[in-house]
Amino acid sequence: MPLPDECSNLYGSPIKFWMCNMKIITKCLGPIALFCSAQVCAWSNHTLVSHQLIQSMPQVASVAPVKVESLAEFLLANETAVAQLLAEDEVWMAQNLWHYSPRPDNLAFTVTGNSQDVVERFVKAIRVNPNAKFALYIQGMPGTDLIGAPRLPEDISVFQDHGHLNHLPLQALTSGELVSAVDVVVSANDEPDHGHDIGLFTDSGTDHGQEYGFGEQPFGNPNLEYGSQAPFHMGFYHESPVLYALGGFLKETYPQMRIHQYKRLAELAFAKGHDYWGYRFMGWGLHYIGDFSNPYHVTPVPGNSTLSTIWVGLLSTLGFPQAQQDAVQLVSNRHTVLEDFQSVVMTKAYEANNLQHPMISALTVEQPIAPYAESDVIDKFARASMDKADYVGEILMASFPREYVQDETVEYSNLDALETLEQTVHQHAGEDGFNQLEATISGLLSDFSIHGSAYVADILRAKP
Ligand SMILES: [Zn+2]
Repeated sequence: MPLPDECSNLYGSPIKFWMCNMKIITKCLGPIALFCSAQVCAWSNHTLVSHQLIQSMPQVASVAPVKVESLAEFLLANETAVAQLLAEDEVWMAQNLWHYSPRPDNLAFTVTGNSQDVVERFVKAIRVNPNAKFALYIQGMPGTDLIGAPRLPEDISVFQDHGHLNHLPLQALTSGELVSAVDVVVSANDEPDHGHDIGLFTDSGTDHGQEYGFGEQPFGNPNLEYGSQAPFHMGFYHESPVLYALGGFLKETYPQMRIHQYKRLAELAFAKGHDYWGYRFMGWGLHYIGDFSNPYHVTPVPGNSTLSTIWVGLLSTLGFPQAQQDAVQLVSNRHTVLEDFQSVVMTKAYEANNLQHPMISALTVEQPIAPYAESDVIDKFARASMDKADYVGEILMASFPREYVQDETVEYSNLDALETLEQTVHQHAGEDGFNQLEATISGLLSDFSIHGSAYVADILRAKP
């Protein structure tokens, strides 16, 4: 791409960047989009991070079992109220969310009484993947046994790769039976990662992506199986004005929308006495708050200053794509190793029934629970995680061997490191380093406990 004269010395001084033509600069930011592509799951199994939170809230743990009902049954019983709520919400979200793409009018949920298409009408109105499964089931914790009839991972997930679902007890539920509220919330908490937010953009190669009004995928890799959910599970609210000016697509994120939608639906379900769906919608919304407790979900390039982020994007556009590819690789490796360590340690703790483990006890909700305001999603939840991003990055550097987190020539997942990850940290960082890594992750989980419990308690105020 030809450059104006004032850009000719860019290699020597990033500051000269400011002198460039704005159009060229904006193009330079395109590659940043890919920073977010590799990982979009935050905590790989969300039940690990929600179980203790929910279990330690007597508001949920001590209630009588609730009656299971299908989504169609819930919707038909409350069709008028759901239609009214979604109509009100459409207006509210357009006026109040940090970023919103209005729902096309033809997707509005209308009252028809038709039981055949009620789920489809609802799913399109809230703009979720119509192929998502809404099976009735419980996703058991590691170390627990299956009770009753099993469910298959493919009954729950739209993905080819079922990951952790292959290793967990999945129990089928049927309409009318009773189930514990804790099990409903915790199972539902992992559900948005099973395909709810897949293929929602015009370049997703899906029919619903053409209809939904979200436009082209702003970032993430549309070619990866999980890639298209990235803008729904990541929210970049605290970047510098410069970065937003140059990369407006960074504003196009939707977790705040999901957190709001599911909270309102949960409140409606409770108000109408349909507690099973109250708890299930609650679990869905809580998922995205859990995502925010991972710093890799609230800033596109954790640990990079605005200037170096722009600089790397610029170099790529100028014909040096390696710098960008290297940055992507490092972010992806660090994100994955953080998740892997958390998942390995917590899975083992649950399997051993070691509920005193620091990463589990960090999730215990402390009373009094903080009040909740809609603005907290951005101002407190995402902010707290963003503030820890640099520190978490430093701890990862100190805890793992160079090839895991600092070598851009390595794809971490090729190292086959999962089985020996704890041992690796012990060997590399010693006992103190291991403990410090655990304490750092516990800090992130503790934030989730504070934020998540505020959300849950506020929803429960809708219960008569
Ligand atoms: Zn997620």
